[in-house]
Amino acid sequence: MKRKSSHIPRTQYEGPTIGPKMDSEKQTLMDYFGIVKYHDYQLDLIRHISTSKNDVICRFRTGSGKSLTYLMPAILHGYTILVISPLCSLITDQVTQINNNVHKKKLAFNLSSSKSAEEENLDEKEVFGTTVSEENRTRIIFCTPEKLGTSAFRAKLLKMHKDTPFAYFVLDECHLIIESGNSFRADYMKVDWLRNELKDVPILCYSATCNNFVTNQIKTLLHMTDPVMFENDNAKKNLFLSIHSVSKHNQNCKCGSKNCTWHSKSDITNESILKAVNYYGGGEVLVLCNSRSDVEKLKQHIQKHIPNKKVEFYHAGLGDDSRSATQQQFVIGNIDILVATNASFGVGINLPLVLKVVVIGTPMSIQTISQAIGRGGRKGQQYYVDFYIKEADIIKNRIMLNKEVIGMSSTYKKYVLDSFDAVQYLVANSAADKSMCLLNIILQGVNATSTFLAVPYSDLQDFKKKNSTVRPYNRARWNSEARKWYLPPFAQNQAVAKWNTQKNTTDVLLETPECGKCSNCRNQNNISRFL
Ligand SMILES: [Zn+2]
Ligand SMILES: [Zn+2]
Repeated sequence: MKRKSSHIPRTQYEGPTIGPKMDSEKQTLMDYFGIVKYHDYQLDLIRHISTSKNDVICRFRTGSGKSLTYLMPAILHGYTILVISPLCSLITDQVTQINNNVHKKKLAFNLSSSKSAEEENLDEKEVFGTTVSEENRTRIIFCTPEKLGTSAFRAKLLKMHKDTPFAYFVLDECHLIIESGNSFRADYMKVDWLRNELKDVPILCYSATCNNFVTNQIKTLLHMTDPVMFENDNAKKNLFLSIHSVSKHNQNCKCGSKNCTWHSKSDITNESILKAVNYYGGGEVLVLCNSRSDVEKLKQHIQKHIPNKKVEFYHAGLGDDSRSATQQQFVIGNIDILVATNASFGVGINLPLVLKVVVIGTPMSIQTISQAIGRGGRKGQQYYVDFYIKEADIIKNRIMLNKEVIGMSSTYKKYVLDSFDAVQYLVANSAADKSMCLLNIILQGVNATSTFLAVPYSDLQDFKKKNSTVRPYNRARWNSEARKWYLPPFAQNQAVAKWNTQKNTTDVLLETPECGKCSNCRNQNNISRFL
């Protein structure tokens, strides 16, 4: 689909050359963001947004200043833009930050802060009720997907677009829009209204964890033919990853760290966890657990044993005010150790001071694991991530997951199950089969998919017999919807190779150079590390 050009004449962007243009741009950067220059990758994207009409998918990691890249063109050129963000807390933070500029200019509006999605708030009255003044043309409008779903709001947007056309739309944290839309909030998918009604307005999608699956779903949903991709280097060269993993057969952790006491009978008060949390270096420690009760129990335990550090907790059961206060205190460095639930903390928030992340319990998806390792070392410093896992959780979690996927579309269900299979492969590789680089499994795992096999009925008995000779996590499984056998991501199963006609994701994993620093790589090289 080719879109018509916008009603807005775009100011030609001249880049950071010398002269008055540069000065005013530098001044804008300073006045609105408190910084003096861009990173190169930010500059490329800002230049692109300012001069072209293409859709964009941006996969910058959190902390690379991605919001600046869509805010800056709007401020520089006086654009009206609409930002859809699924996180109310993120909207509140951003609106406050933008409006707290040296000129005290109100540029950002939060249209989702009213009690009900239908109710009009003060910002909404201002945006739709007043005309833009010449000297203050920029309007950065934020709303949630729920708000965008209401018909009254849509009517107002259409009316407004006729007078002051939108320069572009932004879908922030677009992986949440796709993930929630597929699992429990079908109305999130209705963001395609923007494309269907306002065809000529480019859409910019942002997410640090926008893997290939999410990217493809976004492209289909928004009828994007040729979006321009922006990425920055995502290799975690500064990470020391340890996965402490125990099973029925390997009851003691064999991570290679000295004095590790993680055991199949341990719980969250295990002394290895306490040692890991009591990080000797400067900087903060983020501890992630699966449940609210674990969060509170662990917070008390840590504070009791490490009285000289400030320990706090954070989960979705706390009030909005208390959560945002804790988050703020952690961001600026007033809390040494924060214990939080895996799901609720840190999406889209830059945590520049975190130098250690400790994850207790087995996450349900390889994406969650990848997000956890992305929460530390944001300034490029050496940082540490420790996972404490029991293989028995895999069985429990799979039962839970099998219930959750009921009712999901078959494509999304396959994605969720593939992601879980990648977790199982990671855990098996850290507990028993210690041959693969764990960091590589995580980095490749976010895009890994299972492979369907072609097994004719006449081969079935032979196939089943051969398949049963390999370890359980390498075995082919049955997909009842597709009515086909498949190999989970990374499964190494030579026994059934003759029925595999496709290229397996394992090949990519085997071709990637090892990190040299994760617990498996250290074990292979006989390097040990203190906790
Ligand atoms: Zn260990
Ligand atoms: Zn490694």
